[in-house]
Amino acid sequence: AAKIRLDKLLSHTGNGTRSEIKKYVKQGLVTVNGAVVKDSGMIINPETHEVRFEGRQVNYREFAYFMMNKPAGVVSATEDRKDETVIDLLENEDQAIQPFPVGRLDKDTVGLLLLTNDGQLAHELLSPRKHVPKTYEAVVRGNVGRADQDQFTAGVELDDGYVTMPARLNVRSQEQTDEGIMSMITLTIMEGKFHQVKRMFEAVGKQVVHLKRVAMGPLALDPELEEGSYRELTADELELLR
Ligand code: URA
Repeated sequence: AAKIRLDKLLSHTGNGTRSEIKKYVKQGLVTVNGAVVKDSGMIINPETHEVRFEGRQVNYREFAYFMMNKPAGVVSATEDRKDETVIDLLENEDQAIQPFPVGRLDKDTVGLLLLTNDGQLAHELLSPRKHVPKTYEAVVRGNVGRADQDQFTAGVELDDGYVTMPARLNVRSQEQTDEGIMSMITLTIMEGKFHQVKRMFEAVGKQVVHLKRVAMGPLALDPELEEGSYRELTADELELLR
């Protein structure tokens, strides 16, 4: 792991701002390998230095990876002037490592969102050249059928003239409701254009009324994860992404 300044390590693990930490270090609250240190600029090697703050061991992670089941009503951004963001849903110590969402889900879309501070991994997953598949489950107003499947396989022209890559559409079930027939579908797309799923259905004259992402590349949404909650990726999940 990379070496890091003591004050940065302590602030990235949620122990305070850099200036607060400077003060704590001066007060003798921080030990490195059992000895009190007074220099907050000390260079730490996380592999060989054991850092303690008020006696508690500080576990430094350079990179962190979280799987979130994004709820509706929050935006997938790190900051927003009026809306709650997915970052606001993280514990303070997880916010401290400065994760960001890998790609975007609309405010009303729920489901799988990966958050990390690993810019390289994010870049690779988002690279348009990589065509990382994304799978969505949606409720679509109307009778989604064979003609729609064929059009999605062939590629549909969006409102801006872009023709989508072949996408796999499956109809799981249909239901008669007060608002007419609804189709429960699964769709896998190979790109991530703005509002892509909604715009693909618009292109065939249909409306998405509920949208949930369930997979991104090899990573599947943990069905145990409730909307609004998140957890760290397991080692196996992380391995799949690499
Ligand atoms: N497609 C959409 O229309 N919205 C999303 O949030 C994701 C994919």
